[in-house]
Amino acid sequence: MATIRHRLTDVVIPREVEESRGHTKSFRYGIPPLRFAPFGMTVFAHCSRLATAVTMVAMRARFVVAAALLLAGCGETGSSQKADTQMIWEEFSGANALRHVQQMVDYGPRPPGSEALERTRVYIIDQLERVGWEVTRQSFTDETPRGPMTFVNLIATFAAAKQPPSFILGSHYDTKFYSDIHFLGANDGGSSNGVLVEMARVLALRPELAAKVQLVFFDGEEAYVSFTDTDGLYGSRHFAKQLVAEGKAKQFRGGIVFDMVGDKSLTITLPPDSPREIAAGIFAAADALNVRKHFTYSPGDILDDHVPLNAIGIPTIDLIDFDFPAWHTPGDTMEQISAESLDIVGSVAARYLAEVALK
Ligand SMILES: [Zn+2]
Repeated sequence: MATIRHRLTDVVIPREVEESRGHTKSFRYGIPPLRFAPFGMTVFAHCSRLATAVTMVAMRARFVVAAALLLAGCGETGSSQKADTQMIWEEFSGANALRHVQQMVDYGPRPPGSEALERTRVYIIDQLERVGWEVTRQSFTDETPRGPMTFVNLIATFAAAKQPPSFILGSHYDTKFYSDIHFLGANDGGSSNGVLVEMARVLALRPELAAKVQLVFFDGEEAYVSFTDTDGLYGSRHFAKQLVAEGKAKQFRGGIVFDMVGDKSLTITLPPDSPREIAAGIFAAADALNVRKHFTYSPGDILDDHVPLNAIGIPTIDLIDFDFPAWHTPGDTMEQISAESLDIVGSVAARYLAEVALK
């Protein structure tokens, strides 16, 4: 295979434009993290009480603006429970996604076979089931440079679906194994799962769309030594092989893989092997949401979980920001990522799904 996974920082990549914090839904980012209620569902439950408390604060002090922002966030999250919107991309919350990432990162380094990764699985499964998804564990053993390892992909379909899914949304949830550094993978192995869990909630607002989707959380994306045909992409290679073995590859029309989508300085660098039609759809969605400047092409090939899917005939794009200086370093922490970046990627993908891919 000619593809090489390399750091974009090793090659000169022209920035289209200077990083900007401009966006269309800025009110969301004024909402302070609700650390006392870290899960979306808990926040909903506390919303009315929170509103009362905040109003009292606002009356006593000059935090009127902050209070309004907080209330706006509350109402927005609450309204998303009513499934009254067609524009699901407006419902996608980067703040929710960030809370999911924080939870996973709090478990610590999450390499394959670790207890922290099992806790991550339990968390993801719980979050998905709360919003109507059924999750199965696809467990398998493969040879690695460290000997045989057991991996577990999580595969989710919408419980109310009356048809087989036709579009894949994927993300790897393992973090790279290191024996010598504390690698938390907030961006690499964390961020994309926050987006996917929040996407599951948003899609569930339109069950007819959710029914067409299969969510796949890949284990073992990271190589133990370096990416070869037998090291790295363990989960996606196995998933693709199983699809073919079960004669199900043809039921999928396309897919999106998310990886490293939380960098505060966001530049999604689409791999050159991106299916042209999907790339055009993503660019159009980004244009429509006024965030086009955050999307460009990578100058070099990127080997990621989209490759095994493309290899079995499922056109799949990789939404990845490989221009990330903290890549595979102890510096890949929560400080590197933002709700805003997660929001941009999630909103663009949700708009593409609702307006094009799942229509
Ligand atoms: Zn990585």
